[in-house]
Amino acid sequence: MDHTQQAMARLTSAGVGCVALTWVDNAGITRVKTVPTARLKDAVRNGVGMSPVFDVYLVDDSMTESPAVGGPDGDLRLVPDLDRLTTLAAQPGWAWAPVDRFQASRAPYPGCQRSFARRQAEAAFEEFGIELLMGFETEWVVDAGARGSGPAYGMARVVELSDYLRELTEALGAQGVAPLQVHPEYAVGQFEVSVAAAGPVAAADLAVLVRETVRGVSARHGLPASFAPMAGAGAEGLEGLGNGRHLHLSPWRDGKNLCRGGDGPFSMTAECEAFLGGVFRELPALLALGAPSPASYLRLRPSRWAGAHHCWGLENREAALRFVAGSPDDLGGANAEVKSFDGAANPYLVVGGVIAAGLAGLREGLTLPPPVSGDPTGRPGLRRLPAELPAAIEHLAESAVLREAMGEELLGAVLAVRRAEVELFASATPEELVEATRDRY
Ligand code: GLU
Ligand code: MG
Repeated sequence: MDHTQQAMARLTSAGVGCVALTWVDNAGITRVKTVPTARLKDAVRNGVGMSPVFDVYLVDDSMTESPAVGGPDGDLRLVPDLDRLTTLAAQPGWAWAPVDRFQASRAPYPGCQRSFARRQAEAAFEEFGIELLMGFETEWVVDAGARGSGPAYGMARVVELSDYLRELTEALGAQGVAPLQVHPEYAVGQFEVSVAAAGPVAAADLAVLVRETVRGVSARHGLPASFAPMAGAGAEGLEGLGNGRHLHLSPWRDGKNLCRGGDGPFSMTAECEAFLGGVFRELPALLALGAPSPASYLRLRPSRWAGAHHCWGLENREAALRFVAGSPDDLGGANAEVKSFDGAANPYLVVGGVIAAGLAGLREGLTLPPPVSGDPTGRPGLRRLPAELPAAIEHLAESAVLREAMGEELLGAVLAVRRAEVELFASATPEELVEATRDRY
């Protein structure tokens, strides 16, 4: 029996009859084709057909077009990555695997976001011998009514939704991704889960799996979950906090964390500083990947721990880039966190873009500006990141680093989707924007 047949036999004996094959589009929506377990071998060999037009789908399922993509013609093949095949605990009888997308000829497809992420991770290793560890935090809001009204970070919230949170923890554990922690967040009905760091592509895959697990367990408890940048409707909700999807990262070589043991700021190595310097420089452009929706900018405001200012600091939760030094007996725990990113982002574009930016920093030997402590709001000399999506789009369009890394076809599709969503919501009020995006991601 080959690898695929073994996987199919394992699924069948576990009573799994269906496999969900997902990828994430440029609007940040996880799209899917499903196959019966018995068809998995064929899916691996031939791929499953899907139109390329999804590269220019918007959050409301309307379509735009890019120079390379649009209209009804063409076909792509979705090829599942069975190394990630996971039996879903919250959907009995189902398994999941992420896909890479290939052209019908099986040539690489330049619009494939997961392949883009992998190419960047490979470049880091080939050029600098560096491996990245990455991890996304997942924040979401459930509409729990009176069952979820306890205070921010309050134990009362855990008691109110005790079975729900336990089942979520167990479901993730059963899938081999035991959470590092689960906690109630600031906003009403808001929670967060974080999982252990992994390689970049694996971290993006995990972001998808964790979200779908939260969604699945939430549905079983009659608690619809929102992962949108801003989930609260009405004036009160808009004053509240949004859902972030912060990215933690650390560069490693030969089992050594480059965030520690050097002569740079807070004992980071020069290479770590150069990598972070590249990420820091490209942050305005990276926002168009990591805070990709007009709704992202309802969240990305000062004094909300969302990383609205273009600064970095040690353990500074208001800075876009927060350096976490780790404890002396856990040097592996040191990392940097990009706080500005949210749950509307395609995690594969995020990890690929961040690595590309970091590699440019390494090539150019960049350094970081002085760190900032305290809330940067209103401080002279400290600038905000783009406060609206159109400004971030222009930074992305002008970023030579990201253009080179993404290539014209992928970048063109991303820019087309961003511009079309700006247009789509040009006359929407903030309340309408929240309403239109709350249940889409
Ligand atoms: N919910 C905040 C955000 O929008 C983050 C809060 C935190 O630091 O965990 O990113
Ligand atoms: Mg949080």
